[in-house]
Amino acid sequence: MYRDHSCGGLTADLAGRSVILAGWVHAKRDHGGVYFFNLRDRTGVVQVVAHPEQAEAFQAAQGLGLEFVVAVSGTVERRPEGTENPKLATGAVEVRASRITLLNACKALPFMVEDDVNANEETRLKYRYLDLRRPRMLGNLSLRHAVSMAARRVLDAEGFLEIETPILTKATPEGARDYLVPSRLTPGTFYALPQSPQIFKQILMVSGLERYFQLARAFRDEDLRADRQPEHTQIDIEMSFVEESDVHAVVEKMLKTVFRETLGVDLATPFPRMDYAEVMRRYGSDKPDLRYDLALSDCSEVFRQSKFKVFGETVRSGGRVTALTVEGTGVTRSEIDRLTDFIKAQGAKGLPWVRWNDPPESPILKFFSPEEVDGLRRSLGIAKGNITFFGVGEGYAPSVHLGTLRKEFLTNPDFSEKLGLRPAKPWAFLWVTHFPLLEWSPEENRWTFAHNPFTAPIEGELPKLDTDPGQVRSHQYDLVLNGVELASGSIRNHRGDIQRKILSLMGYDPREMDRQFGLLLNALDFGAPPHGGIALGLDRLVAILRGEDSIRDVIAFPKTAKGTCPLSEAPSTVNPKQLKELHIKLDVAG
Ligand code: ASP
Repeated sequence: MYRDHSCGGLTADLAGRSVILAGWVHAKRDHGGVYFFNLRDRTGVVQVVAHPEQAEAFQAAQGLGLEFVVAVSGTVERRPEGTENPKLATGAVEVRASRITLLNACKALPFMVEDDVNANEETRLKYRYLDLRRPRMLGNLSLRHAVSMAARRVLDAEGFLEIETPILTKATPEGARDYLVPSRLTPGTFYALPQSPQIFKQILMVSGLERYFQLARAFRDEDLRADRQPEHTQIDIEMSFVEESDVHAVVEKMLKTVFRETLGVDLATPFPRMDYAEVMRRYGSDKPDLRYDLALSDCSEVFRQSKFKVFGETVRSGGRVTALTVEGTGVTRSEIDRLTDFIKAQGAKGLPWVRWNDPPESPILKFFSPEEVDGLRRSLGIAKGNITFFGVGEGYAPSVHLGTLRKEFLTNPDFSEKLGLRPAKPWAFLWVTHFPLLEWSPEENRWTFAHNPFTAPIEGELPKLDTDPGQVRSHQYDLVLNGVELASGSIRNHRGDIQRKILSLMGYDPREMDRQFGLLLNALDFGAPPHGGIALGLDRLVAILRGEDSIRDVIAFPKTAKGTCPLSEAPSTVNPKQLKELHIKLDVAG
């Protein structure tokens, strides 16, 4: 028998008991003729003592090095008074070893197996098996497991079937580049790895399965931004005969259980909902961090008659003046200048501001009438020491610029401290609904989908598809948590004619439509039920629950930002014979 107890489970009520443990040597100390080491298994660490009286164990202890694998037989003893370690769950006891069996040795370590690891990420990933031994990483993977299991349990109880969809498949349009796999059997053709199971999950609805889910891997060949992975996992859901609120309710139930079981937090449901148009006006972002109350105000009306051209003419020609007011006593003039540069770099023409001292200070104050100053004070609810920043322009642009500023205030610790911005709650969920159906793509000079090409427009707005496509709102919804987009989904077009019409608006001619979407379009024509769904980013959810900044820390074997795996050395060259079988000739420079 290798063991009969776990290291992390030894407490004072086991004092006097004989135990057998197995694990890794975590830290070793020689205290004047007595050897101490910490023994670690997945459940935690416990201190082992080897006294010279137990000669065999004592001798074995002498030869141990870090991360050696051992089995220890011994007796649980209370630690002598004053030597307890309250930081350790097992800190009240130690195991007096009678026998230590070496199960395996370990080479010199590239870094120490401890939470404050002193190694760069490349090295950590190369020796991922050592990195994952660290308690923090074990905790991350255990929590990931707990989240997956909770999701499965809730969805199972709600009548969902877990169904796998193909990995070797045809391109699925989610707006990214595909990973391609050459086919040996049909030379010159390729499979694509799925960017999502989108088409298959919709086809499962046409198949009458009604409720599907999958912890699905999605592959997107994007230039890797800081926290992207070429493959990520989503809790993928599709349901028949549902409206938006039905999909939301399932996700809320799932997250309520996940938060209760993993953090002991009781989330209030239903989560708040806000239309895209409103969220953009109030926060200048479709994923605002609503842990903070800070909202933008519209003060266009104050300036409708204004002689100050920049403001007045913008409003008179249909644009808007938007304001963001903060407690700004500590903000210096040079910081305002820096913020102005920052906003200009995002495409704004400038960053007008007023500091509400007595009298107010501002380079543009001389252009305001006394009524306008009063009007501002009233509509913004000003207090002394506040600073108001303005965004001016057409459509959502003025809010978007101030939304960027809002985000800078919340995320740059220099400002959040100074402005006294503290979260009003630890978890702020928000459903953002009714996104525009289409976005204009200036590069391609055509309409393209805002979410995916299968999203249904809001029924009453169908006629606008012919006259003003950009104004058509859709049944797309996103779930935002603390400023992060956690999930995204929509009610789909279940009627082939509407789906075709939308695709043709996006510039697909019938042949291209058939080539790319024929699979789905054919199925829709065979009695597709109304349906909708969502996909929730599992990696991101686990990272947030664990307070990890990077999703790489919650994925067992992630890729680097360059898309490589230092452990397996993927991607790698292959031998010429394999290429020949695939009828592939390389054309790689250098
Ligand atoms: N397929 C979508 C995505 O992966 C999610 C959905 O619409 O259900 O983002």
